[in-house]
Amino acid sequence: MKVLVLGGGVVGVTSAYCLARAGHGVTLIDRQAGPGEETSFANGGQISAGLAEPWANPEVPRQLLQWLGQKNPPFRFRLRAGTDFYGWALRFLGQCAARPAAQNLERALRIALYSRQQLRGIREATGITYALQETGILKIYRETRAFDRARKRMAAMNALGSNLRALDGDATLALEPSLASVAGKLAGSLYSPEDESGDAHEFTVKLAAEASRLGTVFKFHQTVEALVPARGRIERVITDREEFTADAVVLSLGCHGGPLLRPLGLRLPIYPAKGFSVTLPVRNAAAAPSRSITDEDQKLVFSRFGDRLRAAGWAVFTGYDSQIEPARCASLATEMEALFPGAADQSQAVPWAGLRPLTPDTLPILGPTPFSNLFLNTGHGTYGWTMAAGSGQILADLITGQRPCIKQDDFGLDRF
Ligand SMILES: Cc1cc2nc3c(=O)[nH]c(=O)nc-3n(C[C@H](O)[C@H](O)[C@H](O)COP(=O)(O)OP(=O)(O)OC[C@H]3O[C@@H](n4cnc5c(N)ncnc54)[C@H](O)[C@@H]3O)c2cc1C
Repeated sequence: MKVLVLGGGVVGVTSAYCLARAGHGVTLIDRQAGPGEETSFANGGQISAGLAEPWANPEVPRQLLQWLGQKNPPFRFRLRAGTDFYGWALRFLGQCAARPAAQNLERALRIALYSRQQLRGIREATGITYALQETGILKIYRETRAFDRARKRMAAMNALGSNLRALDGDATLALEPSLASVAGKLAGSLYSPEDESGDAHEFTVKLAAEASRLGTVFKFHQTVEALVPARGRIERVITDREEFTADAVVLSLGCHGGPLLRPLGLRLPIYPAKGFSVTLPVRNAAAAPSRSITDEDQKLVFSRFGDRLRAAGWAVFTGYDSQIEPARCASLATEMEALFPGAADQSQAVPWAGLRPLTPDTLPILGPTPFSNLFLNTGHGTYGWTMAAGSGQILADLITGQRPCIKQDDFGLDRF
């Protein structure tokens, strides 16, 4: 089959690879100069499958109230954010109720755990390297009550396949001595030994090369401008340079698919949750973490990519502006220095910002549409790198006409 993949982030490239591996003739279009140049560029690097709790959960309303008075809250929105945001936010809050949150947790773990397994398969098949750390992910808590609530959720998550362990403060430090700066202040941690981290951009670039070896054609520097429908299918895809036809079209444009689908009568409920990172050279390896850490109180992740250390996180709901905000990135570097003193060279911080494509239930939109040859693989929000390999495989199965290995029909656009 001739398949057109729109978008060359980690989700689009993984889709293209899985489709090419299944024997399809794939063309991928992206407006940037190469793969993974937008949200997939400098993210937290975590494959946090065992810890993949949706952002929409019953703790959020309480946390939002707690953050209201803070100077630098992990979540922030503008009062004049616009009706798009408020509509999205109301649906998001609806998903924080206990019942939808429990259903969403099951769905998140189902696809994330499957994805981690598929990612290992891709590594074995291709041999690609991307600063992989297979030392698990440690999620640390300073507040006792927050840790107690996390331990309760751990039981439910383990019943769904997570394999998490709860560690007290001392056991946390024994496992990760680089956390010495918070000795005596930690309530505990959840450890997910099978989770991983790595450089998502390096992965995306190298997997694109593998897809190219399998025959995928990459069209960079081309902006998709319209999808032209006819007789219930997408007849043509128009870019600023060319026109394309295909047996199947996959939309993986991160935050930017909405305007292309609206003329077709489809509404993508995706809103950008801007996040930030800083990447610094490691100065003292012994002071740097030897596994990826999530600091639950600060809503930050720290990942080590060989001789680089990155801090990433926070969420700002201010529309589609992806400008780097130097003050926020400087605060990230300060948080890194506070947690891992002397670990990284603070004078060489490289700042970055990206837009997470977030749906109200904070899960991806994956599957067919009312247009017979149009498929969606988008809206992965906080877990795009974690869920990319599983989503890509499911998408390839659906297009090939094979039954996916896991249940996937509850990830469609029709759930909204
Ligand atoms: C601070 C931060 C930390 C994060 N940490 C993690 C983490 O630790 N683990 C994790 O799993 N996830 C993490 N994420 C989320 C993850 O990075 C995203 O979910 C993922 O990158 C989304 O990938 P994507 O391919 O859907 O989107 P993108 O990477 O944005 O790709 C979309 C592509 O579409 C192209 N495009 C858009 N419009 C057009 C058009 N009209 N024509 C042509 N091309 C177009 C863009 O150029 C882009 O390449 C983090 C995100 C942020 C911001």
